[in-house]
Amino acid sequence: MKNFKLLLAMLSLLFVSAFFIQSTEPDTDGEEVSACEVVNYLPHQELNATEKEALLMMIEEEKLARDVYITLGKEYDVKVFKNISDAENRHMEAIECLFEKYDLKNPIEEKALGEFSSRKFQDMYESLVIRGRTDITEALKIGASIEDLDIYDLNELLESRTTDNDDLKAVFKELAKGSRNHMRAFTKNLKKQNATYEVKHITKDQYESIIAHEQERGGWLCGDEKPRDGREKGCKGEKGKCGDGCKGNKNGKQKCKGEGHHGKH
Ligand code: MN
Ligand code: MN
Repeated sequence: MKNFKLLLAMLSLLFVSAFFIQSTEPDTDGEEVSACEVVNYLPHQELNATEKEALLMMIEEEKLARDVYITLGKEYDVKVFKNISDAENRHMEAIECLFEKYDLKNPIEEKALGEFSSRKFQDMYESLVIRGRTDITEALKIGASIEDLDIYDLNELLESRTTDNDDLKAVFKELAKGSRNHMRAFTKNLKKQNATYEVKHITKDQYESIIAHEQERGGWLCGDEKPRDGREKGCKGEKGKCGDGCKGNKNGKQKCKGEGHHGKH
């Protein structure tokens, strides 16, 4: 069954960017394909300098989102920060699968909450948190602005000809889908505060078309929410099921924490 699911994930990678095939597949054996499984199943294609830079940037950008939402989530009693910071953690883990696969040094491996490897993200974190502490409306706008940047950067990477790795593109597409959902969530929450968000990175048209669209479902990064019928999709929050310590080798096999040998291959 696992192979069948991997095949489905592969098919969806090849034919539909949003992985809808897998999202409609019934959860027959309670196991879902993890981000690392998909990453390791896809071919090993040497990374060029631009791709390495992209990974270094995106891992910090996902951490920025996660850490800002965790920090602001402690200030305000709204669910949105907690829900989205969990998703950002999965996004970071998906990129970490790529660091593992290509044996790259992970710049944030030893970094605590609010600590970054680059000055740029360190400064962004600090100024966003200060501004977000003003009030809930400002905090939600900070959230939307992080998603705005994220969508912009991911679209740039996906459209660039220099990013040609199937595994990178698969992860970036999933991250972009998550970001569009987060943008919808922050916008909805801003509306409750009678506030709106002014775009800074993507175009106004892109923003309008994102928020006019319903939440996007499915995907193998554990999903950002449950499907309509209430069945739990994705990793179910179990350790080792969603890139949590899953280390793959080049044959697409994977080992999880507590499952014997894991580490660099
Ligand atoms: Mn993200
Ligand atoms: Mn996000």
